[in-house]
Amino acid sequence: MRPSFSTATNDKASTITFNLQSSLYEITPREVTVKSVQTLGNDYVRLIFCGESLHDFVSLGFDDHVKVIFSNVNNETLRRNYTPRAYDQKEETLTIDFALHPHGDAANWAENAAVGTKAIIAGPRMTLHIDDNFPCYYFIGDATALPAINRKLETLGENTIVKIYLLGERLAEHLMTSLALVEVFSFSDERMFKDNIISACEDVSANTFIWGAGEYTLMQEFKQQLNHPKHKMRIASYWRKGEESFHQEHNK
Ligand SMILES: Cc1cc2nc3c(=O)[nH]c(=O)nc-3n(C[C@H](O)[C@H](O)[C@H](O)COP(=O)(O)OP(=O)(O)OC[C@H]3O[C@@H](n4cnc5c(N)ncnc54)[C@H](O)[C@@H]3O)c2cc1C
Repeated sequence: MRPSFSTATNDKASTITFNLQSSLYEITPREVTVKSVQTLGNDYVRLIFCGESLHDFVSLGFDDHVKVIFSNVNNETLRRNYTPRAYDQKEETLTIDFALHPHGDAANWAENAAVGTKAIIAGPRMTLHIDDNFPCYYFIGDATALPAINRKLETLGENTIVKIYLLGERLAEHLMTSLALVEVFSFSDERMFKDNIISACEDVSANTFIWGAGEYTLMQEFKQQLNHPKHKMRIASYWRKGEESFHQEHNK
């Protein structure tokens, strides 16, 4: 089923100016229960959480994130960052797509979650708004970036030109269909991925927004090497090789 996203507004939101327009929210910890578990190929497990506490959940930006708070096999309480993939206010459900990888507590927890598994969802703390009127978007990312990319694809209009660069051969299978004119480039080799993006972005039009997320070292290279105005680009590190629970805020 195609996930959808509510456009509910939050009267708690306050607007501040920090290069890009941002909204800050009160952080509410919400007790939730897994309502459904779906595997998406070998790449993701999609958990749909439910709970009355979700009745006033708000996430306005496609690259917002929440903290998923859960217990690992040693009964330690851990928290990790995930993109709210879809929210249904009527059903009081929140969907999160967890990329599967062999080394992480959150990935392992999600893979073993069953209907009835409990968690706490906290946030989002803020939204960094991106103008919806760009005629062209470039999206760059690995499996962790795809939930945000999919969320954005669902909202783009039919005249928008979109180029998507993915690191991970099978990832394109998980892309949503979109009204926009979408071209997808998939790579299994990190170097090819990087070189192709850097060369594609050399000729990018000034009316393009470039958004990227993925592993720290790669994202740092893009930040340094992509020559595009800062207010039309957002590159974020969503994880870092060899480091647990890594998170770097956008544009730092
Ligand atoms: C704003 C934001 C939004 C995010 N949204 C999503 C999302 O929607 N879906 C999603 O799957 N992830 C998302 N992530 C990434 C996710 O938070 C990290 O991958 C997180 O580290 C996973 O936690 P873990 O407990 O599985 O691994 P950790 O305990 O954090 O790390 C353990 C080891 O696994 C490695 N590792 C961590 N993540 C990966 C990975 N993806 N692939 C390979 N190795 C990895 C680490 O380098 C470390 O060596 C997001 C991150 C941020 C900052």
